[in-house]
Amino acid sequence: MKTTPPYWWEHAPRENTPEITPPAAVDIAIVGAGFSGLSAALTLARAGRSVVLFEAGQLGEGASSRNGGMVGSSFHKLGIAGLQAQYGVEKTNEIIRESIGFVGFIDDFLKAENIDADFKRSGRFRGALSPDHFAKMVSEFQIFHESCGVQGSIVPSGDLAAETGSKRFHGGVVYDMDGGLHPAKFHNGLIAKLRAIGVTIIANCPVTSIDRTNASFTLHTPLGTTKADRVALCTNAYTGPQFRHQHRRVLPLRSAIIATDPIAPDLMARLMPKGRVCGDSRRIVAYYTAPHPMVRASCLVAVPLA
Ligand SMILES: Cc1cc2nc3c(=O)[nH]c(=O)nc-3n(C[C@H](O)[C@H](O)[C@H](O)COP(=O)(O)OP(=O)(O)OC[C@H]3O[C@@H](n4cnc5c(N)ncnc54)[C@H](O)[C@@H]3O)c2cc1C
Repeated sequence: MKTTPPYWWEHAPRENTPEITPPAAVDIAIVGAGFSGLSAALTLARAGRSVVLFEAGQLGEGASSRNGGMVGSSFHKLGIAGLQAQYGVEKTNEIIRESIGFVGFIDDFLKAENIDADFKRSGRFRGALSPDHFAKMVSEFQIFHESCGVQGSIVPSGDLAAETGSKRFHGGVVYDMDGGLHPAKFHNGLIAKLRAIGVTIIANCPVTSIDRTNASFTLHTPLGTTKADRVALCTNAYTGPQFRHQHRRVLPLRSAIIATDPIAPDLMARLMPKGRVCGDSRRIVAYYTAPHPMVRASCLVAVPLA
């Protein structure tokens, strides 16, 4: 898939690695160096396993360094009613609590690891694009708050100026616990942690096939083969047809971004006065972040791939 480099890579450039011959054998081979692959590699290597990490492109080529950097739970696809219908009330509450807890996990993890990823727990503002959306948003927030302790506040239309200079909304909700980070800096921070403990990372080295023999796997790449007791396939929607099972189940979506010219500080202070991450109430959501405050704002809209 041909992609354009996001502008925030200027502040956290992608890296390659020198050509490395893959190790003959490891405990665990990880395919894909996004957040999933890096996090798995870090946990496993620290638990004493030998690990090799293969990445088809540059490090962070995939979604992990390209994303909006919003940190927080998001349920507006199914909504609370949809979640409850699918999983029941108890399970829904467990899902919500776990997803809220992960924001604290990121916060603690970045501090403990001393990774500078511009993380700010600024809160998230969600604006309602119609009175109906606002009513639904308020009722969902109240359920989240009462059943799972989600912290935040309802913003009636008269109070919107404190949250945004935009006139498009009919009210909104603030989720206090959410925040934002610079995804490419976070990704680079994880790579540095892996390098520090000597994990072999091989960029520009796609795994072209995997053979299974009894209790082990053989991974084939253009630079050589590796035998592994276990394989973690962390290839997201970039999964190729050689991994048929996953290829048919994780589908790519195309996203569009509008990046503005640099925005003057006084206008920025009116548009996003609290520096929160922001989104709206559409099913295909538009969301707004200011990853480099006072420099640019960006808007991302997810659009299904034709
Ligand atoms: C535009 C956009 C905005 C987003 N915004 C947010 C957000 O604001 N907040 C949020 O929480 N989430 C957001 N997400 C989702 C988030 O980015 C992903 O859920 C997360 O990055 C997935 O990480 P991953 O490691 O699973 O996959 P990826 O980071 O995509 O990594 C998969 C890697 O596997 C590699 N690969 C594929 N096939 C092979 C192979 N055969 N051999 C070797 N390597 C291979 C790919 O090159 C890729 O680098 C967004 C996603 C996108 C696309």
